[in-house]
Amino acid sequence: MNILLLGSGGREHALSWKLKQSPLCEKLYIAPGNAGTSECGVNIPMRIDGDFEAMEQFCRDHAVHMIIVGPEDPLVKGVYDYFEETHTKNPFAEGWVGVIGPSKYAAQLEGSKSFAKAFMERHNIPTASYKEFTDANFDEGREYLMNHALPVVLKADGLAAGKGVIICNNHLEAVAEFDMMIHQHKFGDAGKRVVIEQFLNGIEMSLFVLTDGKNYCILPEAKDYKRIGEGDTGLNTGGMGAVSPVPFADAEFMQKVEERIVKPTINGFHSEGMLYKGFVFVGLIKVDNEPYVIEYNCRMGDPETEVVIPRLQNDLVELLTATAKGEVDKVTIQQDPRFAVTMVAVSGGYPGDYVKGYEITGLDQSNADSIIFHAGTKTENEKVVSNGGRVLAVTSFGADVSDAVAKSKSLLTGIRFMKMYYRSDIGYEFV
Ligand code: ATP
Repeated sequence: MNILLLGSGGREHALSWKLKQSPLCEKLYIAPGNAGTSECGVNIPMRIDGDFEAMEQFCRDHAVHMIIVGPEDPLVKGVYDYFEETHTKNPFAEGWVGVIGPSKYAAQLEGSKSFAKAFMERHNIPTASYKEFTDANFDEGREYLMNHALPVVLKADGLAAGKGVIICNNHLEAVAEFDMMIHQHKFGDAGKRVVIEQFLNGIEMSLFVLTDGKNYCILPEAKDYKRIGEGDTGLNTGGMGAVSPVPFADAEFMQKVEERIVKPTINGFHSEGMLYKGFVFVGLIKVDNEPYVIEYNCRMGDPETEVVIPRLQNDLVELLTATAKGEVDKVTIQQDPRFAVTMVAVSGGYPGDYVKGYEITGLDQSNADSIIFHAGTKTENEKVVSNGGRVLAVTSFGADVSDAVAKSKSLLTGIRFMKMYYRSDIGYEFV
């Protein structure tokens, strides 16, 4: 099978590393990819943010059978629908399997917080209580905020690069933020509608489900570390590391998650006729031993993929083919029982300003227990150089979290680029 994978981060390197191991994978193309993915397949310098005609031409020219979508943007813009519709009118080469991801309509679960909250409400899925407001009922929103228990959570409805959620500890500050979103367009169109939500106090984790829109299987879970500084301090980032499995996600808790969250979510897709053939990432919070949904994402997480995928023992091409064909009920997930920890090396200054283009050395140290996944890297004059904020993710297996962390640290001490920084306390609560 010939596969096109969209994206260029650590997530896509982990996916391409796994896809390449499948005997079912013939040609693997990654658009646009990074220096790491180029060792698993062929990088294609193609735009993936909405120019689906060029993508279609590429797929026809290269007899692509399956498109796997890494980031949310192409999904929210309708890549699934475009290819389904095109295939109906003018079929692709024999053996076309499909796009792995949700339809544009279902991708609103990630693209619109208001859509996701209403979906959860319709299906009795536990989540924080909420109300939503726009300019039309701004005064009512201000009143609602002033009477809301503190802290209170304000969320821009649309995608805001992970920055659209504000937690306020004081009513006047909350009203000022609300005003900035609605009237001063702090998050552009994404903040035209604001979800005001109850603050849940608990511990967070990420759940990954693969679905064909009717059946599902649960993949290894993970916990990520978003803050730049040790001890979860400082600014939010795309993610500085992750751990899988999650020690507090015991069998009793996961049973509740499956019954109260996974089953009603997938049944909701089915009963509402939502087309969804791909990964569902459920951001969960555990409050007094009970699970609540914080958010849905319609793709895998990054850096969680860098621990989830290495722990997955199934053939990924087989799994995704079953997903596209509506046969996820026939799948049994096999997981590596060991702990996996990934530690992300970033450019100095990130998540603020940083310099790109520094040469990276020490990248040839992967071994049976540790893998170096590239994120923001590219090849320039036969050298690998930094090309983004998050540069690499070093994943290691271990008998426990500290064992895995020690192995990743040992590799990281041999990797060098100017102003490299990483958090050495990933998984600190579990050691
Ligand atoms: P991401 O960057 O993960 O895509 P996002 O912008 O889509 O984030 P959410 O995931 O909904 O937004 O919220 C971001 C973070 O804010 C959560 O991971 C969580 O830490 C915090 N948060 C969101 N909602 C709540 C809540 N109701 N109670 C407590 N914390 C919350």
